[in-house]
Amino acid sequence: MSHDSNNIMVILSSPSGAGKTTISKKIQQKYQNFKISVSHTTRKPRSNEVEGIDYYFVDENNFKNKIKNNEFYEYAKIFGNYYGTSKESVLNLLNNKNDVLFDIDWQGTQQLSRFKELNLLKIFILPPSKEELKKRLIQRNQDKLDVVEERLKAYDADSAHKQDYDHVVINDNLENCFKEVEKIILIKKGKK
Ligand code: ADP
Ligand code: 5GP
Repeated sequence: MSHDSNNIMVILSSPSGAGKTTISKKIQQKYQNFKISVSHTTRKPRSNEVEGIDYYFVDENNFKNKIKNNEFYEYAKIFGNYYGTSKESVLNLLNNKNDVLFDIDWQGTQQLSRFKELNLLKIFILPPSKEELKKRLIQRNQDKLDVVEERLKAYDADSAHKQDYDHVVINDNLENCFKEVEKIILIKKGKK
């Protein structure tokens, strides 16, 4: 994977429900040059999700074929579904001189980190508490309760991976969290 050295690739990871998708979208809205890398997944779409914007929704056979054909930079099985970053979609963004935002988990982050030439900035978002996380997962109101429970159960193990990241930011007040993430990104860009 090669890229324009002025461009950065920001990875936002967190326990599910902490707010990384919300923050990624806010960054993309404010900074036109930032584009979110659209992943492939075998998960079923939530009612507000749009094909090609939130994910490319594919079935398991299709996903496994893409694995076989080496079409992913990274992929992982998370909560029983496959998720992956296709080379094609990232290269399209880089060729258009975009900065790239990845909303991927710690497994994908470890895999992307092996590409040493990448200008990665790795940020881990945490909720203020597990109770608040549960509220957000329920409030998102898109996943069945057993799915919420499964995601809550992964909280401790997921959080332990914060040590793999350059920065850890608590998402208590959304605006404050956004500002903090924004500042981290602007400092990194300013250093170029
Ligand atoms: P993730 O992508 O990390 O799984 P989302 O961005 O989907 O999380 O956020 C989960 C839910 O919490 C969404 O309904 C979102 O609107 C809400 N949310 C995000 N940040 C905050 C916050 N700071 N305070 C309250 N609710 C939030
Ligand atoms: P969700 O089902 O809530 O959209 O996402 C579940 C988890 O999958 C989140 O932690 C999200 O960051 C992660 N994820 C989404 N796309 C990818 C991807 O392409 N690769 C990896 N490794 N994780 C992803």
